[in-house]
Amino acid sequence: MLKTPNNNNPFESWNIGSGPKLIIAGPCSAESEDQLLGTARELVACNIDVLRAGIWKPRTKPGTFAGVGAEGLAWLARARQETALPVIVEVATPSHVDACLEQGIDLLWVGARTTVNPFSMQALADALRGVDIPVLVKNPINPDIDLWLGAVERLSRAGLQKIAVVHRGFSAANENLYRNRPYWTIPIEMKLRHPEIPIICDPSHISGDGRLVFAVAQKALDLLFDGLMIEAHIAPETALSDARQQLAPDQLAEVLRRLDFKRAYSDDIEFTTTLEQLREQIDLADETIIAALTKRMRIVDEIGQYKQKNHVAILQPERWKEILTSRIDAGLKRNLSERFMRELYRCIHAESILHQEAQFKKDDQN
Ligand code: PEP
Ligand code: MN
Repeated sequence: MLKTPNNNNPFESWNIGSGPKLIIAGPCSAESEDQLLGTARELVACNIDVLRAGIWKPRTKPGTFAGVGAEGLAWLARARQETALPVIVEVATPSHVDACLEQGIDLLWVGARTTVNPFSMQALADALRGVDIPVLVKNPINPDIDLWLGAVERLSRAGLQKIAVVHRGFSAANENLYRNRPYWTIPIEMKLRHPEIPIICDPSHISGDGRLVFAVAQKALDLLFDGLMIEAHIAPETALSDARQQLAPDQLAEVLRRLDFKRAYSDDIEFTTTLEQLREQIDLADETIIAALTKRMRIVDEIGQYKQKNHVAILQPERWKEILTSRIDAGLKRNLSERFMRELYRCIHAESILHQEAQFKKDDQN
């Protein structure tokens, strides 16, 4: 029998949001009272749950727009009063926390450049000790799940109960389609290790381009993320930060309309029967794969012994090159991607070397 996974919106217990997923939207930065209020008014019509705006901006270079500072908090309070939307702000230092708490900001988020620094995270945790406010922790800029979880743990040790994580992609040295690479295996691992922590996707900072936001958001929903944080600005082309990735309110409405908010599970009898049948086939296919790998490793061991007896080195670069090229070729002919075949065979080859090293050690002991 298939178990019914929990289909509830985890944010319900925080008393925010009403739909199946939490939708946070708003400008990258609050720039003026008119810009913020104008954006907020339009976003209400998009049915969002939380209004975001940065007022202290962690910019890569000095001399660029660094946010309006504490002055913007009053604008956020006004936007909330007018729209009834809860508001969320980025905090990076204890003084930011104090200013937000004083102004009654509803939720806080910690940015990628802060999560990465354990000293900053500890200072934030200390400033928040004993405070009951939801905090969203963006992933660190580097793909390190333990650093991300360490930041969460510092907050939870300070007594915070409402903590969620935000996947905003990871910095990479080389140019790519994405501004920040998604490395989806990391948020998936996060979900597996900590199913109790709600996870939100920020497709704006992953894509860096408004035209890619829909595709990244849809992928996140397909992976059962619990919500989205999307940058939206009343006039994106005039934005003082992240102009390229912000959506105009009507573009955001269109993205939200087109997104398929997948269910975690369907009770439909035809669906569950078909899925079970297909999964049985997958189980059989996996058994065949494991049997084939076992057989391959047995032969690898035999070759290891033979190389040892003849004093021949384990690594044979020419043979390895030939295997990799021919297997990638064979995979491509069957619609398996080059990247997949390369990773698969790298993994198999590394394991084969370990096996042969073990054979060599065994023989040394004899
Ligand atoms: C932001 O949300 O505007 C921001 C600065 O995010 P990040 O920390 O993901 O770069
Ligand atoms: Mn931004």
